[in-house]
Amino acid sequence: MKVKVGINGYGTIGKRVAYAVSKQVDMELVGVAKTKPDFEAYRAKELGIPVYAASPDFVPRFEKVGFEIVGTLEDLLGKVDVIVDATPGGMGEKNKALYEKAGVKAIFQGGEKASVAEVSFVAQANYEKALGKDYVRVVSCNTTGLTRTLNAIKDYIDYVYAVMIRRAADPNDIKRGPVNAIKPSVEVPSHHGPDVQTVIPINIETMAFIVPTTLMHVHSVMVKLKKPLTREDVIEIFENTTRVLLFEKEKGFDSTAQLIEFARDLHREWNNLYEIGVWKESINVKGNHLFYIQAVHQESDVVPENIDAIRVMFELADKWDSIKKTNKSLGILK
Ligand code: NAD
Repeated sequence: MKVKVGINGYGTIGKRVAYAVSKQVDMELVGVAKTKPDFEAYRAKELGIPVYAASPDFVPRFEKVGFEIVGTLEDLLGKVDVIVDATPGGMGEKNKALYEKAGVKAIFQGGEKASVAEVSFVAQANYEKALGKDYVRVVSCNTTGLTRTLNAIKDYIDYVYAVMIRRAADPNDIKRGPVNAIKPSVEVPSHHGPDVQTVIPINIETMAFIVPTTLMHVHSVMVKLKKPLTREDVIEIFENTTRVLLFEKEKGFDSTAQLIEFARDLHREWNNLYEIGVWKESINVKGNHLFYIQAVHQESDVVPENIDAIRVMFELADKWDSIKKTNKSLGILK
């Protein structure tokens, strides 16, 4: 059986998920819903992806420039088994009624509140919780990044304190900032800690800053340990954790710039770095405290999670079978 997939919201996340769906042998990309006939809509068409108007209100925009659409979102919903909602944060919640009415399963993204779905999801942490569910939320890029590494060491965690250094905007976004400032999140602790707790039950507090960069987020993680763990143990655990890679400063990985260059060198589509990058030298244990620094490619780490979410919602594969299939199809290194 091939699961028929539609994408509503063909932006940073939507187009990457569409690409990833097209790489799966057990899924079929039926179409994408767009609000306007911009270059991304033309590119979708060139790639042979059927384009639908995201609402009847938007149809005249396409007609005006002679861009042929297949129909509207409602038509798309009539043809799919699941819709991946990758519209801007908060909009998914409003769209949910449409999906319910059409009787299709839906995946929401991290910009939505946890209450939009039955489960908040990171495949390697809680795959089974989403088995057969109708509504799943793939958590945000930061929450996915924190969850991947913390889940691997969860048995050792007493308390986590983490500082998120967040990118100001995605590379194609000219509306957000700051351009020349550091913006603290004065909500302390920040929302990231509670968001991790929607996936794994650990003690965690986070603080956050936004800085002028578009490439990646960086997390400075401090863990109070409840049982002994050495630096070597942590290196071995992360080496054996899927979708986590160790990068060495000694090999020239001085900053997020070189991590992105690494993804470019792999000829990854859109220089996606699906894996969370942990700086090996930053892993240190002092007494009962563990420290490490990791980087998150915000545009792509959640993409494999969307694919695994589809598989688990339709009970197509068990956890490791799905993770392996997704990893292989996207060239994820381990
Ligand atoms: P985006 O702005 O790049 O893309 C959203 C797309 O939805 C755009 O193409 C926009 O034109 C379209 N859209 C707007 N209104 C719409 C409507 N009514 N119906 C259908 N489409 C509509 O946003 P994004 O960065 O891809 O974010 C999408 C979701 O993914 C959000 O929940 C966000 O929080 C989450 N997310 C984003 C990132 C990231 O860093 N970009 C990372 C992880 C999760």
